[in-house]
Amino acid sequence: MTALPGRVVLIGDPVSHSLSPVMQNAALRAARIPLTYEAVRVPHSDLAKLLKELREIGGAGNVTIPHKRAVLEFSDDMTDAAARARACNTFRFVNGKLLADNTDVPAFDNVARRLLGDDITNAAVTVIGAGGAAAAVLTAIERWPSAKVSIVNRRNDHATQLAEMFSDFARAEPDMDRALATTTLVVNATPVGQHDDLYPCDVAALAPNAAVFDLVYRRGETPWVNEARRRGHRATDGMPMLLEQGALAFETWFGVKPDREAMRQALR
Ligand code: NAP
Repeated sequence: MTALPGRVVLIGDPVSHSLSPVMQNAALRAARIPLTYEAVRVPHSDLAKLLKELREIGGAGNVTIPHKRAVLEFSDDMTDAAARARACNTFRFVNGKLLADNTDVPAFDNVARRLLGDDITNAAVTVIGAGGAAAAVLTAIERWPSAKVSIVNRRNDHATQLAEMFSDFARAEPDMDRALATTTLVVNATPVGQHDDLYPCDVAALAPNAAVFDLVYRRGETPWVNEARRRGHRATDGMPMLLEQGALAFETWFGVKPDREAMRQALR
């Protein structure tokens, strides 16, 4: 195990809804690490001060909305995933230097590969949304053999900006129906379905072999994922990805693999 961080925190605003504390504290208990993972609500105006305090004690942690881009700007070094996605969801201070990482990228990749198997080759993906999570999804898909992505977003100019970052394989598509007609995987990277029963797209518009990946998670899965399963599609909600990004973060902080089953139980 590497030297213990002085403190392990989730930085965001708000943070009260996050399941990361319950999941990470279960992993810390299972590994008998004498630390508590704390959710710290911090407005943008106090972010620099908090990072200075964490620098002094060699802190580590996660970052959530709205600070994923801002923390990157304070970093001394960053992984390729964080640089490409232009967002940091995991960090640690080592010898006073802030190292920024993005474990959403490998987490999405791992869960998608479990869902799709060999179908990642030549995948025709529709990504709904064009924010930070969509950028992480595109960063992962960039390594899939011969994949193509259509980005559909409420504001098409945001989709166009994201597509420009990944122009070798992605383009903005203002017409959802046209995107879905050839889709083999549809990804919801918006909050639609989190606090309502809306679908990010019509499941009936999908080909029978298309798979459904919802980044949103909630108790009992999202209505969209439930409907996709009912119609016989391979489908996952965001819970396995949440667990995976947290497990990969834990590994970067402590240098050991966490007890994923303890984390899964805590999320239930
Ligand atoms: P973000 O940067 O704020 O981006 C949100 C995106 O969703 C934007 O493209 C926005 O469109 C779109 N959007 C917001 N409200 C919408 C609505 N009512 N209808 C249609 N589109 C809407 O957020 P993010 O960080 O990308 O996160 C997106 C979702 O992914 C969140 O629910 C988050 O919890 C989830 N997530 C899950 C995991 C996981 O591990 N499972 C990891 C990361 C994120 P505009 O551009 O038009 O504003």
